[in-house]
Amino acid sequence: MRKLLVIPGDGIGPEVVEAAMYVIKAFGSELEIKVAEAGDVALNKYGTAMPPETLRLADLADVIFKGPIGESAFDVTSLIRSRYVLYANIRPVKNLPSVPAVRSIDCVFVRENVEDVYIGAEYRVGDVAIALKIATEKGTRRVARVARKYAEERKRKVTIVHKANVLRVVDGFFRDVAMEELKGLEVDQMYVDAAAMELVRNPTRFDVVLTPNQYGDILTDLAAQVAGGLGLAPSGNIGDDKAMFEPVHGAAFDIAGKGIANPIAAILSAAMMFEWMGMKNAAESIRRAVERAIEAGVKTPDIGGHHNTREVGKYIASLIS
Ligand code: NAD
Ligand code: MN
Repeated sequence: MRKLLVIPGDGIGPEVVEAAMYVIKAFGSELEIKVAEAGDVALNKYGTAMPPETLRLADLADVIFKGPIGESAFDVTSLIRSRYVLYANIRPVKNLPSVPAVRSIDCVFVRENVEDVYIGAEYRVGDVAIALKIATEKGTRRVARVARKYAEERKRKVTIVHKANVLRVVDGFFRDVAMEELKGLEVDQMYVDAAAMELVRNPTRFDVVLTPNQYGDILTDLAAQVAGGLGLAPSGNIGDDKAMFEPVHGAAFDIAGKGIANPIAAILSAAMMFEWMGMKNAAESIRRAVERAIEAGVKTPDIGGHHNTREVGKYIASLIS
């Protein structure tokens, strides 16, 4: 049996994770499930956002399903990504039937997930503050290989996003190494600022998008909104033998506790988790159930419905079990 660690997180985290658990439990016989605390609430309770017991369970787990963390996201989300070298952050962005969208979009972001400016190498020296931005050859090659894999299953097309006209050394290196790894595919490149514009103007020109860590973080919130909103955007953090799945969105403190958070981002992240575990039928069945729930009007206010988080989770689960 695979060991699954569930971390509900902060803000709307526990609400959307509860809803996703109805769905996960529908295929639960395959999993040994443990639940652990981490994040702002844990920090207030234990003085650390990642308590030792949670870390121990995370070390033992084969896979982690996580809600968003609040202000201590770096100490939990980034820690898990780097501790288990979950070097590729996969963020598919696709319209859902009957969800109003800014534009048609169907692409997969492959975001480098453990390097760049998010390594936490920040320093304060008197009246100067410094953050280091890092790209290694190994780190760039392995994430580019993931982009290659996705491209080979799709349209054999990858867009590398960077800012090598300004960050000539570090972004130039990322681009050049990625280019080498992607030989034989249709590869183009775009500066990140232009990519932001193009994602709104003409998003269907993108298929697989390979980005360094920070640009991918920013662009995927933008792309999620183009497709209909952050409440629908799933993600998977993938390493060589371990993975963590979580919605793209954060703790959304502005709507926490109101029961109106959209659980679909978390539920589609669960679908990605089952796919990673080799349970393709479970993943497909969850995705179909999500579409049927939306079509039946069982949806949260952010996408024009009047149902609450729990009702949506239970309804989607009822369509698959
Ligand atoms: P956010 O993603 O939490 O919210 C942005 C906007 O989207 C808000 O208006 C929110 O109400 C809305 N939204 C987000 N998810 C939604 C959902 N499921 N249903 C309906 N509406 C939804 O971004 P933020 O406000 O910048 O960040 C809030 C907190 O989350 C911060 O403390 C931040 O550090 C943290 N955060 C954590 C992660 C993570 O753990 N991976 C990621 C991003 C942000
Ligand atoms: Mn983000």
